[in-house]
Amino acid sequence: TAPIPRNEETVTFTDLPLSPLALQAVSDLGYESPTPVQAQAIPCVLEGRDIIAAAKTGTGKTAAFSLPALDKLPHAGKGQGPLMLVITPTRELAQQIYDVAGTIAARTHHRVACVVGGVSLEPQIAALRKGTDVLVATPGRLIDLMNQQAVALSRVQVLVLDEADRMLDMGFWPSVKRIVEQTPAQRQTLLFSATIDRSVQKSVGTLLKDPVVVEIAKRGETADTVDQYLVRTPQEVKPALLKALLAEKGSERVIVFARTRSRADATCRRLKRAGFSAEAIHSDRSQNQRRRALDNFAQGKTDILVATDVLARGIDVDEVSYVVNYDLPTQPEDYVHRIGRTGRAGH
Ligand code: AMP
Repeated sequence: TAPIPRNEETVTFTDLPLSPLALQAVSDLGYESPTPVQAQAIPCVLEGRDIIAAAKTGTGKTAAFSLPALDKLPHAGKGQGPLMLVITPTRELAQQIYDVAGTIAARTHHRVACVVGGVSLEPQIAALRKGTDVLVATPGRLIDLMNQQAVALSRVQVLVLDEADRMLDMGFWPSVKRIVEQTPAQRQTLLFSATIDRSVQKSVGTLLKDPVVVEIAKRGETADTVDQYLVRTPQEVKPALLKALLAEKGSERVIVFARTRSRADATCRRLKRAGFSAEAIHSDRSQNQRRRALDNFAQGKTDILVATDVLARGIDVDEVSYVVNYDLPTQPEDYVHRIGRTGRAGH
């Protein structure tokens, strides 16, 4: 077995015990060198170890589990599977994982299916009936499908729990537990969480066997590439202050976080009335509306995205100029996620 690389700076993908097929997938993804979580997690996953990884979104965790897991995953027979199950809290995250896993699977010849809520069940049932090697799912929809006997988890060899802390926060834990109970006890479990706090440890400790702990981010640590400013202001001044800030600092590629869906909508309406280009994204909007809003923002068709925390982690857009915490987040971890949307590539 390969030693766990210590000095991430000098590790290349070819130093990791990945197969030539997986290395081709790396080049398809356009990655040049592994991120720290990839350098640490990939050898452990290939060895079959359980891992618990504290890694924020943006650290490259999706490939950290998808590359090694797919590299060693057998292929399910017709109408069988999944052999690998990835559970993630939001549709947007599921879509991102589906995209990355799909690119890798094109090389490793695996079938990948994705089941999320908010869209019709029938195509998902049909896809599962054909069989799949990998299933990416949000908890609620997977439970629906389990209730309809449309999916069997008895062959799962690799279980990935993505954003475990968020699934706890969102009240998904009873569903996640039910799902995990349907998978074989001798599976490999890979757990990713932005932070590994006590509630996460308490809830998940029993699901893992002698896990390797991969810790990239310290608890509550924010990216050191982000400058943070605090503006004390009365609530009623916020709308005017936000407009003044946008006018002064620029309104392109800005994300504004609001506490509730209705505040996100109201803020968005106000910005539009003031002549800004803005769109709101939150869990009351349909899957299509969310995707369109994210695409428009990513392509620069919309300047300002007004979002609630539920979707903070799903926003994977480069070159965000700055983030406005219009309302304070209720959870410290949400703050970490919010401001982690910027600070990439010198922004
Ligand atoms: P994740 O943390 O999985 O959401 O990944 C965050 C972003 O980093 C995504 O846009 C990935 O495409 C990108 N990424 C992941 N791994 C690498 C890598 N080794 N080199 C460059 N970019 C990467």
